[in-house]
Amino acid sequence: MGDFNLSVILDAIRRSPDGVSRVELAGIVGLAAQTVSNICRRLLDQSLIVEAGKYGSGPGKPRTILRLNPAGMYAIGVHLDPAETNFALLDLTGSVVISRKLPTRADADPQETLDGIAEEINSMIAERSIHRSKIAGLGVATPGPIDPVAGAVVEPPHMQRWGKVALRDQLQKAVDLPVLLDKDVTAAAVAEIWAGGASGAGSFIFVYMGTGIGSGLVLDDEVVRGSSGNAGEVGHIIADPDGPGCDCGQRGCVKVTCMPENIVAEARTAGVKAVLAASPDSLQEQVAALAEAAESGDEQAINVLDRAAERFAVAVSAQTNLLDVDHVVFGGPFWKHFEAAFLAKLPARLTARSATAKVHGIEVMSTGVGSDVGAVGAACLVLEDSFGPHAASLVLASEE
Ligand SMILES: [Zn+2]
Repeated sequence: MGDFNLSVILDAIRRSPDGVSRVELAGIVGLAAQTVSNICRRLLDQSLIVEAGKYGSGPGKPRTILRLNPAGMYAIGVHLDPAETNFALLDLTGSVVISRKLPTRADADPQETLDGIAEEINSMIAERSIHRSKIAGLGVATPGPIDPVAGAVVEPPHMQRWGKVALRDQLQKAVDLPVLLDKDVTAAAVAEIWAGGASGAGSFIFVYMGTGIGSGLVLDDEVVRGSSGNAGEVGHIIADPDGPGCDCGQRGCVKVTCMPENIVAEARTAGVKAVLAASPDSLQEQVAALAEAAESGDEQAINVLDRAAERFAVAVSAQTNLLDVDHVVFGGPFWKHFEAAFLAKLPARLTARSATAKVHGIEVMSTGVGSDVGAVGAACLVLEDSFGPHAASLVLASEE
């Protein structure tokens, strides 16, 4: 029980960015003052928290303020996406210390890709001269589906040479750190809870706009993973009944109507000049061109984004109604190009389709984390696992 109490106290300190005293902590977590005091001593000895001044006037002793020690522990995250691989090194407070990205060669041999990831991670650790005992672990976020028991990614879309790759064990060997694997949309949702601020509280759907589209589900501050860690596969929700055929036999699935490549293809067919002029090899460039054209008043571009917003409204409302969430958070590497159009159109369209419109509204917002939310989320998986209030086993417990 000692370790459970320790993680609960650490979590209460984390949630008090201005610092908190031992007396206040005892009130927050409902433990005896002596227990709190003993645990704080252990956390101070392990450099996970620091004493940061005193406050108080009037009768009684001034109270010592406790805060997380940012340098007390670190976590590393990597997000493997078919387009690019993002890396993030986070300190204990969840702040990004180092952020890097490399292009992913989708046609490369998996082993070659894993070697490149390990090399980059080792170089990040060396850059800050961080002792390995101060790194709680490595989190890896990948497109689904995943096999959480095998620690493997299973035939990820857009990566031709990847079958079932046990990347958790392989990376563990290569970087000599504990490794956690999760789906990228789940990692993004965890990042939003851990580091997103107001948008990461309560019940929400995180719509991740990467090379593919997926949803991270959060109910009552808890991320929902499902029976095999693969919750949130929205690819075969029908977004447009009159849309093109899908490999599942239906028409107009998210997978064939809502992906950035589908929207760009529609813009090309509609003759949006800026998109036709952009490099056909760069999805980012084409989507950026579409957004810029819409912003500068190109009628066709505006219509393409409007129709895309309509399809997202259909697909997202199926999820908001099913789960009774009160907000939807958008993020991922392509989100910034859709942000203006979608924030303008989606709230009213989701409300119009909401089964609970007379009970509560549905807010639509951008991630509070940033475009590398997948990598930050991967690192947050480690922080959550090691220091979250539900931490099953504390990494630091083994030091005792
Ligand atoms: Zn389908």
